[in-house]
Amino acid sequence: MNATAPASSDRPAISVDSVSASIDGATLLDNVCLRVEGGEWISVIGPNGAGKSTLLRAIAGLLPVTGTIALSGTNVANLNGRARARLVAWVPQTPTLPTGLRVLDYVLLGRTPHLGLLATENAHDLEVAHAALAELDLEHFAERAIDSLSGGELQRTVIARALAQEAPILLLDEPTSALDLGHQQDVLDVLDQLRRTGDRTIVTTMHDLTLAGQYGDRIVMLADGAIAAAGSATDVLTEDNLRRHYGADVDVFERNGRLVVIPTDRRSPTPPPNSDQNRPSTPD
Ligand code: ADP
Ligand code: MG
Repeated sequence: MNATAPASSDRPAISVDSVSASIDGATLLDNVCLRVEGGEWISVIGPNGAGKSTLLRAIAGLLPVTGTIALSGTNVANLNGRARARLVAWVPQTPTLPTGLRVLDYVLLGRTPHLGLLATENAHDLEVAHAALAELDLEHFAERAIDSLSGGELQRTVIARALAQEAPILLLDEPTSALDLGHQQDVLDVLDQLRRTGDRTIVTTMHDLTLAGQYGDRIVMLADGAIAAAGSATDVLTEDNLRRHYGADVDVFERNGRLVVIPTDRRSPTPPPNSDQNRPSTPD
């Protein structure tokens, strides 16, 4: 299925053309077509194992695929690691972290693609790293060892590293999964600001469908490695789609022009504590 942006240009930020990927005979991506314009935000949703992380890895140029993936008009397969990292920053679902590094040094690793051969970071790199820490409410952690951070602090640190990379395309795989509600909003607002003021292009995977609909310009729903639905939140976040592809019973309703998705309570109603049903039966 094809997911094409409404307004299109000759060189979209991301162009995924008939992309398939398989490992050990299993099809992970099945003829995926997707076109993302500069400054757009795409929310990729889908049940566990649908291929969301695989799609992001493919766009990041980290997975051999058939078909073509182009970033700003250049086939990602033809880019070396450094050129790729200047174009696209990827925040994996489960990052591998070096041990014994300070938070600031870890975020500075994001500057690597901008450094000359054998060069060390300069004042500008430090400035960018500190700005990224500030954006993610992490300045006071700059000197801390990354091993000592909580799950949510760590997740924000990995995002800060991606921001410090200053790549025009940001791919974030479940960036809010470990964050409390306030930090979820903060992180998503920072990303939103970046794409509005800096023309960054953003692709996130998210399990919170309300947030996916709220922040994404378009939603792409994957199922079994293929695009099952794509379009506006209203088009994609239907009770029928969510039942069919997630096996979920949800209530979708609109509030202040936004869609809200909440799980239906499938349990049988519990009687209130003082109801007759809870009173011990007494013999007549
Ligand atoms: P999602 O992010 O949507 O939960 P993934 O993209 O991580 O799903 O994975 C898609 C499917 O591909 C899953 O069924 C997963 O088990 C499978 N998969 C991922 N990597 C491999 C691999 N190296 N070998 C075999 N199957 C894999
Ligand atoms: Mg995943």
